[in-house]
Amino acid sequence: TQAPVNVTVTGAAGQIGYALLFRIASGQLLGPDTPVKLRLLEIPQAVKAAEGTALELEDGAFPLLAGTDIFDDAKQAFAGTNIALLVGARPRTKGMERADLLEANGGIFKPQGEAINAGAADDVRVLVVGNPANTNALIAQSHAPDVPAERFTAMTRLDHNRAVAQLAKKLNAPVSEIRKLTIWGNHSASQYPDIFHAEVAGKNAAEAVNDEKWLAEEFIPRVAKRGAEIIEARGASSAASAANAAIDHIYNWVNGTREGDWTSMAVPSDGSYGVPEGLISSFPVVCKDGKYEIVQGLEINEFSRTRIDASVAELAEEREAVKKLGLI
Ligand code: NDP
Repeated sequence: TQAPVNVTVTGAAGQIGYALLFRIASGQLLGPDTPVKLRLLEIPQAVKAAEGTALELEDGAFPLLAGTDIFDDAKQAFAGTNIALLVGARPRTKGMERADLLEANGGIFKPQGEAINAGAADDVRVLVVGNPANTNALIAQSHAPDVPAERFTAMTRLDHNRAVAQLAKKLNAPVSEIRKLTIWGNHSASQYPDIFHAEVAGKNAAEAVNDEKWLAEEFIPRVAKRGAEIIEARGASSAASAANAAIDHIYNWVNGTREGDWTSMAVPSDGSYGVPEGLISSFPVVCKDGKYEIVQGLEINEFSRTRIDASVAELAEEREAVKKLGLI
């Protein structure tokens, strides 16, 4: 039988962590034939709560779960890890300036990058969920010089899934019929969900919609502000859908995207589509044989260009800000 894959989850006692861990244990992250060993990282105050979750994991009697270990030290939590899900982050609180937010997260993602560099497995794959996710990923990456840069990614899959669902609804089509949708840029309100290359049942989705007003005034803002809509309705931020997207991101990275489709991942730019090299920006990607590749050669129209450029400019500003703070 296969040796268990080590999966480290930070912020394991949080809301997303709670929705994520049971699905990992059930085999949905890597597939039904792959045993997993969970390594949970929490801040000392939350270790007890993580221990409670570990008891519940035990009570799931998951055949694929080879064990759960809990740490409050990053070096230990990332030792030997194959998949690192960085969920814990410092949320923006009232009156907090952007520089304070970036600095607080620098204090989290710098040591985590160092710990991954020092002890993770050679095949480590990193997904940053904690916000500001793209820039947190950049900070971690810059402190892990021995890990190939492309192993650091950030999550825009929830935005992608939200956009697929809204488009399917508009076109009265099942979600499975929607293909080749793209989220570009930053996981923030400036993100750009692009349907110009998307397909519905094999036909161009933008042509099928044929309604630029809906696109500009309903679809794009709805997807970008969906997080706030959830908070308003639920009284708490999205957690199960965020966990679901993290599962989808890793599952596709490891097991591939389906034939004739792609997905969206924030990955280090190689300069494609005019996105400055090194920025961790969302692109259309195809995954195959455990690797992802940015889809090349898409024609970008005026409407898309302006919006991609605006989101990428925000990422460049965030990079400048963390550079100034000495975080990268
Ligand atoms: P959640 O589990 O709800 O969220 C965790 C992170 O995910 C936040 O940064 C949140 O960003 C982000 N996120 C990204 N996309 C989404 C989305 N679509 N919807 C909602 N959240 C999203 O936070 P909790 O406060 O419940 O839990 C955080 C846990 O992390 C705590 O237990 C804390 O102790 C722990 N922590 C652990 C650290 C570590 O392991 N070293 C460091 C820091 C915290 P946003 O805030 O913008 O919603």
